[in-house]
Amino acid sequence: MIPKELLDILACPACDERPPVRLAADGKSLVCDCCRRQYPVRDGIPVMLVDEAVIPGPPAPPAAAAVPDARPAPPARRHHSGNG
Ligand SMILES: [Zn+2]
Repeated sequence: MIPKELLDILACPACDERPPVRLAADGKSLVCDCCRRQYPVRDGIPVMLVDEAVIPGPPAPPAAAAVPDARPAPPARRHHSGNG
């Protein structure tokens, strides 16, 4: 667990504004809400290195996977000759 006093002085090194980072939900990383970087915490020690940070990819659009088959219907043929 990271002491709050330490969290208070930690800032994201990747952002010019040096925004404070917060502890992730799993407690295993520190997250910068400004640049979305996640800094790992190893043996209780936050690794505030830009090279060690991980930026989660953007969430996939929900419509990307399930695309309905929306091909245009072929024009109906009226002229069909034959004895049927
Ligand atoms: Zn940042």
